[in-house]
Amino acid sequence: MKTAKKGILIICSGFSGAGKGTIIKKLLDGYRDYYSLSISATTRDPRAGEEDGREYFFKTREEFEKMINNDELIEYAMYVNNYYGTPKSYVLDQLKAGKDVILEIEIQGALKVKEMFPDTLLLFVTTPDAGTLKERLTGRGTEDEAAIRARLLRAGEEAMYIGAYDYLVVNDDLEECVKEIHSIIQSDHCRVSRNEEFINNMRRELI
Ligand code: ADP
Ligand code: 5GP
Repeated sequence: MKTAKKGILIICSGFSGAGKGTIIKKLLDGYRDYYSLSISATTRDPRAGEEDGREYFFKTREEFEKMINNDELIEYAMYVNNYYGTPKSYVLDQLKAGKDVILEIEIQGALKVKEMFPDTLLLFVTTPDAGTLKERLTGRGTEDEAAIRARLLRAGEEAMYIGAYDYLVVNDDLEECVKEIHSIIQSDHCRVSRNEEFINNMRRELI
């Protein structure tokens, strides 16, 4: 009998511009059968090239608040003046089907999910240094100067909470980083606490 068929709920957080979106896209391309990605709802405007239902479900404030009131979200948070939240049904269905599900969410949401599902695996992605973060955020060209400043300010606050995470991943070389994340997740399947059923079966067989 193989160990750990239960899906793991994985949170990938990190400073804006650290490369979360890029990493997760590569992870899903390279390891298609392993992971499902939860698509969040948000009230922020779509960036050029983003599609409703692919990067996010883009909602008005009223629509988002209706989702909150109807208890359709696992968690939600306010990030730099916009709502972001994780739709509940997809995540629970995928976990039930034995898939590892990735949530690319910020820290307040991550802490709420961890409280609800204590065996969530928390990864925090960063650039090698602050200068690289600023360069990547600016180089992406999707936010104006004021929004970049607000996101860097937020990064300074987020840095205080990295201690709540299980793993720190430095996104220097992209390919290396993707391999590292895949290997962290796969190793986590072997954690004794994720294999109680296997261990109990083994005990029964040995008696
Ligand atoms: P996030 O989702 O964390 O906000 P993105 O995935 O949008 O970050 O990446 C921010 C910018 O940095 C993008 O322009 C992306 O192409 C670039 N980038 C991501 N990872 C790397 C890397 N390892 N080396 C150089 N540039 C990167
Ligand atoms: P962006 O606007 O750059 O796509 O995302 C801004 C921040 O919101 C990022 O830190 C991202 O991880 C976070 N985020 C995206 N979706 C969710 C979500 O569903 N819940 C929470 N709490 N944060 C999210």
